Amino acid sequence: MNRRQTIPKHLRYTINDFNRQFPDDNACIEHLKEQRFPGGIVFCGKCQQEQKHHRINGRPVYACNVCLTQVSPMAGTIFEHSSTSLRLWYYAMYLMASTRCGISAKQIQRETGVTYKTAWRMFKQIRSLLGSDDKLEGPATVEIDEMYFGGRTKRINMIEKPKTPVLGAVERKGGRVIARVAADTKKPTLHGFIKEYVLPGSVLFTDDYPAYDGIEGPNYRHYRVRHSGRVYVTGSRGQIHTQTIEGFWSLVKRGLAGVYHNVSTKYLQTYLDEYCFRYNRREMGNLIFTSMLRRVSELASRPALVPAQMKPAPTDAF
Ligand SMILES: [Zn+2]
Repeated sequence: MNRRQTIPKHLRYTINDFNRQFPDDNACIEHLKEQRFPGGIVFCGKCQQEQKHHRINGRPVYACNVCLTQVSPMAGTIFEHSSTSLRLWYYAMYLMASTRCGISAKQIQRETGVTYKTAWRMFKQIRSLLGSDDKLEGPATVEIDEMYFGGRTKRINMIEKPKTPVLGAVERKGGRVIARVAADTKKPTLHGFIKEYVLPGSVLFTDDYPAYDGIEGPNYRHYRVRHSGRVYVTGSRGQIHTQTIEGFWSLVKRGLAGVYHNVSTKYLQTYLDEYCFRYNRREMGNLIFTSMLRRVSELASRPALVPAQMKPAPTDAF
């Protein structure tokens, strides 16, 4: 956890920076507006063209300078329909971006006084922004590995709870990672995963699990680490290993066990997305936060018009 100290000064973003940039809800709303409608300019549904908008005092909405039709920068984002203050949302994202191992809903509950349910739902919403379908850049040197998640073997109705298989690929130099929940770890699934995310021309390193058989060919060179023979690093320069992906798995496993305790199969992919999102930006220091904020706007649907009588925030938490 001391890696923060190795972050170059210009990439640091401390809690003091956060407090300075986002002292209150207003600052967050202005920030969101600038991300979604730079300079206050956005398409006005009534004028049927882009218009400059201005802030309506005391409300999180902006009105068209010409026809006064209102838009909300929160419409279509994860913040819509939430009565939690925008600053608290920003703070939750700041925390998630700043940790390496994950952040629990309990912690934000303790720090801010929101209910556990609200905190849990906020993190769930934030995590929903972090997925990516990017391929690894390449061709590259890639370690592939399969892993099972699902905690300790629990018995439910005397039936062993199955663990969930996850497939991972990590590029050694530059080090992007991809992790996907999979139906199984059979050959067609593993090969399908590799073809989907790893560019042809790449060199693959795997363990000696037989389902990788046959991946060697015109598209991929393939080296194996003989785990079953207890040989973990081979090759003249020790390059035949899968330690990078194993390092990533142990980061995720520690996090899920220590911070999140029980993660159901249903949500496992979103937790993996959170770990991949941070891992793939680990050179960015705490500017991961900026990148997370950008996702909010990138994934927002088109700004909806605010109904004539702007409703007050709903009374229940979401
Ligand atoms: Zn207008």
